[in-house]
Amino acid sequence: MMVTREMNTEVIGFERLKEDYLDCPDFRETYSALATGDERIIGDFMLEDGYLFRSQKLCITKTSLREFFVWELHAGGLAGHFGQAKIIAAIENRFFWPSLKRDVSRLVKRCHTCQLAKQRKQNIDLYTPLPVPNQPWQNVSMEFVLGLPKTIRKHDSVCVVVDRFSKMAHFLPYSKTFDASRIAKLYFDEIVRLHGLPKTIVSDRDVKFTSYF
Ligand SMILES: [Zn+2]
Repeated sequence: MMVTREMNTEVIGFERLKEDYLDCPDFRETYSALATGDERIIGDFMLEDGYLFRSQKLCITKTSLREFFVWELHAGGLAGHFGQAKIIAAIENRFFWPSLKRDVSRLVKRCHTCQLAKQRKQNIDLYTPLPVPNQPWQNVSMEFVLGLPKTIRKHDSVCVVVDRFSKMAHFLPYSKTFDASRIAKLYFDEIVRLHGLPKTIVSDRDVKFTSYF
């Protein structure tokens, strides 16, 4: 059989699959039926050299291999953070597993690079509901009040850092000439020292400033 011989050369490096089929909730039954019975084909499934194929697509067991494929195609080497449809098509071309579409959607949604790109495109802060904080100093907001009378130490602005959980606030005097890096340092010296690193920061400054953090 020409087709299967070609497929077998493609699956070199996937030796581990052969052992994983019997532990895999998705393929266990079909695999053992094919491995122990007389039939070489059951429905769309076929066993070849210890590998399970469905409609000539290699079946991938419920292991990290699935995530690996999705990430490779979405964010790996030459991949360009394509959307779900493209990745699903690329995987379906050669491989099969039942939850493929759901897995791709879940993983792509988690991609940090895509999220940042989206944020840049639209001012997402306005439309996305913020996570509900359940611990103090995990989610903070920062507000910048500029143009106040100068203090003795030449500070003319205040950065108000509020813990969204306890509503506790810190007021950090600074000068409006401070750039993002100096404000970040101020934040670390005053807030992180006391409360640790937050999970999210919402600020009325632009996205560039927030992502600098
Ligand atoms: Zn991405």
